[in-house]
Amino acid sequence: MSYTLPLARLIEEFQKLPGIGPKSAQRLAFHVLKQPPEDVRTFSDALLEARDKIGYCQQCFNLSAQSVCELCVQPNRKQQTICLVSEPKDLYALERTGEFKGVYHVLQGLISPLEGISPEDLKIKELLARLSNPDVEEVILALPPSIEGDTTSLYLSRLIKPLGIKLTRIAFGLPVGADLEYADSMTITRALQGRQSV
Ligand SMILES: [Zn+2]
Repeated sequence: MSYTLPLARLIEEFQKLPGIGPKSAQRLAFHVLKQPPEDVRTFSDALLEARDKIGYCQQCFNLSAQSVCELCVQPNRKQQTICLVSEPKDLYALERTGEFKGVYHVLQGLISPLEGISPEDLKIKELLARLSNPDVEEVILALPPSIEGDTTSLYLSRLIKPLGIKLTRIAFGLPVGADLEYADSMTITRALQGRQSV
């Protein structure tokens, strides 16, 4: 089947999105063509604006359109407690519970020898710089229960423990390989409340 060229291109682009197969891509493309042109323009502007304006918070490496993110500048957040997560999506999963009142540090990945990701590729140097502030009281490890998550937690605990900062790890009621992103708020809240010293 041959589509007229701009349609073929649109379908091809949709198919590059995660979880979108050929049929869904075709359905989305047909949907776009039925929309008023101004709606499509608004959508394409939103895509471009998000990509152009969003970078990383200089303090916690969360996604942010400002140099320091909204969470880091909130006066009611406890700067003495830092929760370590792998990706921004995990930060949002924890935020959805409303349970955590501290601040975050996003490592932007996990140590994975198989994928060639070493500690130098993560925001660990930046974390240690934050931990040199004597006000920091507790670091909570909230990394996923996987081989990479465990490897990274172990590596970080060796670095953080000698600093004399309280180090805890959230108690996952989740099977190995489970993703914070898909855990319900109740499970995450329990994991946070039941965190244990490392
Ligand atoms: Zn931040």
